[in-house]
Amino acid sequence: MPKKKCVHIISHTHWDREWYLPYEKHHVLLIKLMDKLLDTLDSDPEYKSFHLDGQTIILDDYLQIRPEMREKLQSFVRERRIHVGPWYILQDEFLTSSEANIRNLQYGVKDAAQWGNVSKIGYFPDSFGNIGQAPQILSQAGINHAVFGRGVKPTGFNNTVSETDDYESPYSEMQWRSPDGSSVLGILFANWYCNGNEVPTDETGARKYWDQHIISLEKYAATPHLLMLNGCDHQPIQTDLPEAIRTAERLYPNIEFIHSNFNDYIGKVSTSVPEDLKVIDGELRSQQTDGWGTLVNTASARVYMKQMNQRCQTLLEKVAEPLSAFAYLQGEDYNHHLLSYAWKTLMQNHPHDSICGCSVDEVHREMVTRFEKSKHVSEMIIDESLNSISKQIDTTSFEKWSENALPFTVYNTTGWDRTGAVSITLDVRRDYFSSGVNKKELKEFPLGDRLLIDAEGNEFNCKVEDLGIAFDYDLPEEKFRQPYMARRVHLTFEAERVPALGFKTFAWVRTVSQQEISKNDVSLITDENQMENDYLKVKIAKNGSLTVTDKTNGRTFEELCVYEDTGDIGNEYMYKQPNGEQVITTKDLQGKVTITEDTPFQATFQIVHEWEIPACASDLLDIEQRELVWFTGRKSTRVEEKIPFTIKTLVTLERNSKGINVKTSFDNQAKDHRLRVLFPTDIKTDTHYVDSIFEVVKRFNKPTEEWTNPDHSQHQQAFVDVSNDDEGLTVANLGLSEYEIIRDGRNTIAITLLRSVGELGDWGYFPTPEAQCLGEHSVSFRIYPHSGKEEVSKAYQDAYQYQVPWSIKQTGIHDGDLPPVHSFIQWESSNLAFSSMKVADKSGDVMIRWFNMADEDGSLIVETPETYNNAYESNVIEEIKEPLHADRKQSVHVPVRKHEIVTIGFTKGNSE
Ligand SMILES: [Zn+2]
Repeated sequence: MPKKKCVHIISHTHWDREWYLPYEKHHVLLIKLMDKLLDTLDSDPEYKSFHLDGQTIILDDYLQIRPEMREKLQSFVRERRIHVGPWYILQDEFLTSSEANIRNLQYGVKDAAQWGNVSKIGYFPDSFGNIGQAPQILSQAGINHAVFGRGVKPTGFNNTVSETDDYESPYSEMQWRSPDGSSVLGILFANWYCNGNEVPTDETGARKYWDQHIISLEKYAATPHLLMLNGCDHQPIQTDLPEAIRTAERLYPNIEFIHSNFNDYIGKVSTSVPEDLKVIDGELRSQQTDGWGTLVNTASARVYMKQMNQRCQTLLEKVAEPLSAFAYLQGEDYNHHLLSYAWKTLMQNHPHDSICGCSVDEVHREMVTRFEKSKHVSEMIIDESLNSISKQIDTTSFEKWSENALPFTVYNTTGWDRTGAVSITLDVRRDYFSSGVNKKELKEFPLGDRLLIDAEGNEFNCKVEDLGIAFDYDLPEEKFRQPYMARRVHLTFEAERVPALGFKTFAWVRTVSQQEISKNDVSLITDENQMENDYLKVKIAKNGSLTVTDKTNGRTFEELCVYEDTGDIGNEYMYKQPNGEQVITTKDLQGKVTITEDTPFQATFQIVHEWEIPACASDLLDIEQRELVWFTGRKSTRVEEKIPFTIKTLVTLERNSKGINVKTSFDNQAKDHRLRVLFPTDIKTDTHYVDSIFEVVKRFNKPTEEWTNPDHSQHQQAFVDVSNDDEGLTVANLGLSEYEIIRDGRNTIAITLLRSVGELGDWGYFPTPEAQCLGEHSVSFRIYPHSGKEEVSKAYQDAYQYQVPWSIKQTGIHDGDLPPVHSFIQWESSNLAFSSMKVADKSGDVMIRWFNMADEDGSLIVETPETYNNAYESNVIEEIKEPLHADRKQSVHVPVRKHEIVTIGFTKGNSE
């Protein structure tokens, strides 16, 4: 017997905080909407409840203007008439870091709980695709359901589809499974999240409306429970919805209509879904479509935003937090409030229309300020932490080498031991204003013959630049500011094997006698336009491209770093090359090569390409934009007129590095185009690997059959890797979020460096002149050839380390509890990647997170810190505590599932 159909109408609004209007304009509209909502809930008990878009920040935004409404709002949340959380903001999942995705949930859940109730629905209404690890993240947080608007194409009940239907679901309901095996009940908004918008109250209108809507509702639903979302983007409240529901009830006595909420709806659906629900694995990226509607090229809209995000995010989660946690282990307070402020300020840039770069110019201008605010807080926290740790390091051993030894400490906040070139500005002498400054003496202060040594007296090559005298100041905690003049030098050297999550102390000391010159004192430049170390040989070809030989296996990669430019007549969301246009590249251009650095520990070549590219698209594009010609149907091309486009490339090889650092800069004065850098791999494989959220994900090189978009761009985080069992090429990047594996028979990796477009796109014409990204740009990436399977996790570690800047602090000669070389946390596992180290807000426990990069089970061994020696396994929101027992060596052994996200908490041990 068929069950009675039940239509669940859920009132909501989808609130993009900023988008086609600047933030404050949407904000003004939000205040109106919220006022109306509270009025409606107050005056009409039949208006049951409202879903506040899954993001708690809306409440903060409202109270900023209407602080007197706090109690009223709070009581509606407690009564479950307003549903809030679980997110802080509705992020773009692919363009924010793994940790940012988790913090968004942590702060969202925490804030919603303080309001009175957390809506436990994984809410992704408007995400431009969904990450594969979302089910694992949600399940760990006790959330067993996810709703989303994109990523999967349902085929409809009786719709028979080609062989590609393996990846699709016949229903809007499905089991969505992460690569570790965790799954949630996923529900696709198959008819979008506006499908129950503006329900008529009059019978004629209502009949027409419902007759149509019920057909589309039933088309995808697996159960008699049909979902209608009464709201849309910035949709005002439909205050007469109760009346509209009464009309529907009169017209359709055989159907039940409920002013529902997600909890009730999902409760009903969960108990009535068929057992054969399709399991959908991993990422939902709309690969079973024609490829024109994925919005994937938001990954390259306003690249400068992505670069800023990478810098701020990394500084916060990979530097400020671990350093604060180190200081905390040494007895300092942890800056929960400031870190929370820095995170929230940063996350205000993470909504899908913000970080995606698909808003009007005013929005992205405000984002620059938010990035800077977050960064400034991180920098203060970093400085304070470095100060307090450095003071506790015993540096007395340097005294024996000379008077006026200048010790400093190099901190490695990544999860693995690290070797690489570092720079420090050292004050050789300081004259504080309070005791008198002698500028002449300072200027003439003899630097003397000095050497760089570690605490054991090992010497290191270093490049010294005399910076002369400089003004600076201290800000003591208990005293007035202390200005001084200093005599400064800048040292660059290669720091070797600095311990993971730890530090190594060095000193620049006077030599007593003329020391023997170090054995390594030879150049890395071995021939004209060629440099070499033990692992790699890099030769620069006439056209400026790189020929790189991996000496460990003899494999040579040719034509790396050719630049490619094409027209782009699309918009901030989607790239569209003009029909029939030829790609232009630097392949046939001369590259002018010069040496810019030649020290024993690194060499750098500069390559200059004096290139010319078309100035912009023809006037037709402007007409097509104004007349709302959809980008796929545009006929405009680029103009004949060319303008100079000079690219400067700095290629650096360090003595002990298996990778090559590349920094490319250019002054873009051209419009309507896309610039990429190419790496032909000539590696035979159908798949490649990409860093995504808590996942090194395997993707296919070729799109599906129904994909008609000639471009197959994808999202990346830290790197993309083309490899097979025997050989591989990993290209890591700093904030370059888009790549493509070109179907040219060579499996060429293309990384987008710049995309210049003049309009927002989507539902109208919104000019965005600043999305042309005119002006100076500088982008960084790293090339890492490897020997395939055996070496691939090393390549990924290297790419993760490349993201993180070193932290360095000068200190004095003093006693301390910490030795000159130290690691705060030691851990071992071949396939795990370190993700974060911080202190939990509620418990004060030290929390460390890893994830398994591999498609096989593994294990983790962690040595517990001395005072925080009780370990337990936690979840992503720092709630669950499964005790772990340490062995005699104070290590805990944790089995780890393939692709598992593991969080270990360390709590202070009780004295026995
Ligand atoms: Zn949106």
